[in-house]
Amino acid sequence: MRLIIDMDDVLADTSEYLRKVFYQKTGKLFKDDQLIGIRIESLLTQEEKDILDAIYKRKEFFENVPVMKGAVSVVERLWSIYDVYIVSSAIQYPFSLEAKVNWMVKHFPFFNLDRLVLCGDKRIVKGDIMIDDNDFNLLPFQGRKILFNSLHNSQDTRFERVRSWKEIEALLCIEETAKFI
Ligand SMILES: [Mg+2]
Repeated sequence: MRLIIDMDDVLADTSEYLRKVFYQKTGKLFKDDQLIGIRIESLLTQEEKDILDAIYKRKEFFENVPVMKGAVSVVERLWSIYDVYIVSSAIQYPFSLEAKVNWMVKHFPFFNLDRLVLCGDKRIVKGDIMIDDNDFNLLPFQGRKILFNSLHNSQDTRFERVRSWKEIEALLCIEETAKFI
């Protein structure tokens, strides 16, 4: 069974890290309640958007994003049960391509890089289960759609939702191993 896992805001705590880096650069700190249902980009002035863009264009940004809590051990378990692919839209920021490969090697050393897919549009992706934080990736997907909770999607009720890697473990490891008992 093929399981498709997203990177930013699923494996990697990207939006939280961006909020922190943006604060360090500008002194402007966005609170949780300002980010419910929206992306930080939509709250910025043009000058701030340029700062954000400059942050995204540094490959160090993607290399330094922390791993989402619990992700490493659960992906390692899933790796032994499913045909796991990590699929990330990265073409928009070409510097992020190398950074994302380095990030996977650093944090997920057991992972076979042949299963890392860095792409543009995810509509090309086929599989049985997709875990992603963006509705525009889940909507065209043909299999089971699992939304990883994030402030920007917290009001979306259209998908099965998980709030942590612990929940993914409970949902996908136990459910799948139970079939063999
Ligand atoms: Mg994402």
